[in-house]
Amino acid sequence: MTKILGIIGGGQLGMMITEAAKKMPEHISKIIVIDPTINCPAAQMGAEQIVADYKDKDAIIDLANKSDIITYEIESGDSQILKSVEKNAEINPSPETLRIIQDKFLQKSFLQDNGIPVSDFIQIENISDIHEGIKQFGYPVLLKARRDAYDGRGNFKINSENEIQKAFDYFKGQKLLLEKFIPFKMEVSVIASRNTKGQIKTYPLVENIHEDNILRETIAPARVSDEIIQKAESIANTTMTVLKGAGVFGIEMFLTPENEIIINEIAPRVHNSGHHTLQSSETSQFEQHLRAILGLELGGTKLLHPTIMYNILGSKSFEGKYIPVTITQSNTYLKMYGKVISKPLRKLGHFNLVGVNGESIDQLLQKLESVKEEIIINPI
Ligand code: ATP
Ligand code: MG
Repeated sequence: MTKILGIIGGGQLGMMITEAAKKMPEHISKIIVIDPTINCPAAQMGAEQIVADYKDKDAIIDLANKSDIITYEIESGDSQILKSVEKNAEINPSPETLRIIQDKFLQKSFLQDNGIPVSDFIQIENISDIHEGIKQFGYPVLLKARRDAYDGRGNFKINSENEIQKAFDYFKGQKLLLEKFIPFKMEVSVIASRNTKGQIKTYPLVENIHEDNILRETIAPARVSDEIIQKAESIANTTMTVLKGAGVFGIEMFLTPENEIIINEIAPRVHNSGHHTLQSSETSQFEQHLRAILGLELGGTKLLHPTIMYNILGSKSFEGKYIPVTITQSNTYLKMYGKVISKPLRKLGHFNLVGVNGESIDQLLQKLESVKEEIIINPI
């Protein structure tokens, strides 16, 4: 029996889920998204759109009445409202999983309680809690908003005593946590999936390079030892087992100077560091997510070719319409998200540089430099 799929959020992730869903007509007959931007990226790919804020209660009730199954591309949904519509549509990952993950303090506590390594952290209610935390962890520390953070915008690094007040004021009124700073050697991630029947599959470990707190580049596979790969995969598997939610999850990790793997945070959704799977892997993360929430057998996660994913971000120097991007190089797959307006560092698209001819990561990195020269976001 085919199902109607509802997605909260119709940005690039919702768009790529929509494209994958369109390729599964035997399982999904229609896609409906909630998104506040008229003709959002997912709508451009044929999803029906309810134009509303992601947290709009009436819109979510409407979506639940029209859909058989609901998922989301953003973690900031209102888990209470979602819980209240569970009788009308199956929701995956479950609102309970979302509730835990969307609050960084609850998430870290949950992981720690289950024996999964995370950086040291404490809950912050007032300035003296920050002083207390610094006494335990030493400088620097990161003060983080518990909820609704993205692209590092919810983080404030405190390097010395005279920055404490400024950091606290920066978040005025928000719920906070304080984390020990990890001088990591590398940021890595695992895209993990669990279907509604409990089957778990993980994709190979990848390496992530951030600039200005935004993911810039993902290198698949990560250039680390087999021992580290196994550690990361084992942590990802344990995490999926205890979390219980169904769907694809992006598990962001740090490789510490002592070669330990610790979890930074989990995204309860398809993840930017999994975009390489569109061309590099047996199954894309988007199809995998749908297979997981529909209770289908999960697809293979083997990496078929080494691949580099590069994010195309808006130029820092202007906001407005931009000249369309093209790439002429071979084995380079461009995906633009259909966003009309460029804003500084806005994610406008990405490309995957695929090593189909047995190229090494070093060779791909060299090729990347010349492809980057073709990608310039210029005003129209
Ligand atoms: P995203 O950038 O994934 O949208 P976010 O805004 O929720 O996420 P985090 O993932 O918590 O933010 O942090 C953003 C970046 O800040 C991390 O990718 C990492 O580079 C750095 N960072 C976060 N926590 C720590 C830490 N405890 N120690 C060192 N660096 C950290
Ligand atoms: Mg992050």
